[in-house]
Amino acid sequence: MKNKFPAVFILLFSLILIFNIKSMYAGLSANNFDYPIGSYGSYGLCPNSKGSSSCYWLCQDFLKDVDDYCNLISSKTHLGEDWNRGSGYDDYGDIIYAIGNGEIIYAKSANGWGNVIIIRHTLADGSKIESLYGHLKDMSRTSGEVIRGEPIGTIGDGDGVTASHLHFEIRYSNCPQWGLPGLGYSSISTGWTDPSEFIDSYQSTNLSVAPDIKANNSDGSITIQSTDSLSLTIELDPGGYSGTDADWWLTVNTPLDDPLDWFYYIYDNDGWSWKPGDLMTYKGSLFNFPQIEVLNTSGLPKGDYTFYFKIGIDTGNTDNKQLFQDEISIIVLTTGYSISGAVTLKNGTGLSGVVLTLAGTTSESTTTDINGDYNFTDLGNGSYTLTPSKLGYTLMIKNKILLPMQLSKLLFSLSTNQETVMAL
Ligand SMILES: [Zn+2]
Repeated sequence: MKNKFPAVFILLFSLILIFNIKSMYAGLSANNFDYPIGSYGSYGLCPNSKGSSSCYWLCQDFLKDVDDYCNLISSKTHLGEDWNRGSGYDDYGDIIYAIGNGEIIYAKSANGWGNVIIIRHTLADGSKIESLYGHLKDMSRTSGEVIRGEPIGTIGDGDGVTASHLHFEIRYSNCPQWGLPGLGYSSISTGWTDPSEFIDSYQSTNLSVAPDIKANNSDGSITIQSTDSLSLTIELDPGGYSGTDADWWLTVNTPLDDPLDWFYYIYDNDGWSWKPGDLMTYKGSLFNFPQIEVLNTSGLPKGDYTFYFKIGIDTGNTDNKQLFQDEISIIVLTTGYSISGAVTLKNGTGLSGVVLTLAGTTSESTTTDINGDYNFTDLGNGSYTLTPSKLGYTLMIKNKILLPMQLSKLLFSLSTNQETVMAL
């Protein structure tokens, strides 16, 4: 019997619903945003440190107009922010990063702008915004889905039209230039917003990752019968770690013997499935995903199971990962089989005091109650001989009249969870 478990177990765990991480990038919402420069790479931000070469400073702010030396001339014209590092061409070729998860909807050279990338982002509430990156030297990404913090291009000079810097905009969907570059300057700024204020308002202060695992939609431990269905679901809120590289584990500790004591969820030639072992499920950026089902089965072998959903943030030291995890315990019970029935007289009246002797896989006896009913529970699967007896009666099977002093035997096999035996 023990040798049958592995095949059964692997089969059960292969019958699962698949989730495909790649497909989940489509429509990925953006819960957090970073600066396109300064949040990643070697240099930080120093908006007011004009001329600094060790960080990015703001020459021309949103809705401001400045001269060639970044001195304010007037207000309400500039529709973005101009970011610089050092002076002249110090920042030429510095890497620019996607501020959040989204899709590139524009990436080409525009007249007077040099290369321009526009990323459209879907916010958690379903509304959309755009981030625009202007005057780029190179574009490393020109289409498709990008994730927060992904390099998309480098700082340039707008094909020589301007000094080297990044022109950066945030737009709402009522922007008259939605999906297109420009205008750069306008006295009417409806549809544009202050980029730094926007990003600051969306920078998460939640420095924790919340993996969640549920069994039959319960967060707490559950007890089920082996014949019950088990639906296992997971979801992830990456908090402020959206886009951060991490190790993902989805594993289960089973009551089975080594090497089947651990299974892990893995993508291979079979698609997503559970395989023996306690190994990593996936290595890649953290992103927000809603509840998905990773196991739907029934008939699990009896015993205690603990499922783990763990996220390990890479701190640069493989022995020192920051670990976030959720787990859930499932107790699987197996129901014993039962035999129940009644002994009645031909007229249908129940006959009490009939001793029923059960012989077979389990041997025991019981006596019919006042209604003639009897019940054996917690029996193992197998064949039994059930022998009724009552002093002064002969118990016949089916259509036979009860006669005194005549014994009959009732022989049957259990093939379902419960059989009712009628002795007439
Ligand atoms: Zn500008």
